[in-house]
Amino acid sequence: MKDCLFCKIINGEIPSTKVYEDEFVYAFNDIEPQAPHHIVIVPKKHISSANEINSDNSIYVSKIFEIIPKIAQKLGFDKNGYRVVNNCGKDGGQTVSHLHFHLMAGRQFGWPAG
Ligand code: 5GP
Ligand code: ZN
Repeated sequence: MKDCLFCKIINGEIPSTKVYEDEFVYAFNDIEPQAPHHIVIVPKKHISSANEINSDNSIYVSKIFEIIPKIAQKLGFDKNGYRVVNNCGKDGGQTVSHLHFHLMAGRQFGWPAG
């Protein structure tokens, strides 16, 4: 999609620090990390938000969740654990309209969420 920040990151128009890439998934370090490890994982297809997930595109979501434990093992935070977050829409705090999951690790996170 032409004016989408994460589509531009996927196609290399905007530089990023790549953590993982395959046919379906691109993962890169967040520019404003909220934890020692803060990775943004996106589908290579433009899907605006979690609201747009359906049976035609959910393969991208399953591929993302297949890759999460692999990234955790590679970066060594699988044992201590991690948090996966999706912000959807205005009240969810979504600022980039391309579906993404935040994978954060390296510190303990509180609950309930603020
Ligand atoms: P959201 O708030 O939509 O859930 O998450 C968007 C995330 O993208 C934020 O954590 C923000 O720091 C990150 N982000 C925004 N612009 C860029 C960028 O140009 N490069 C990278 N690596 N991350 C970005
Ligand atoms: Zn996009």
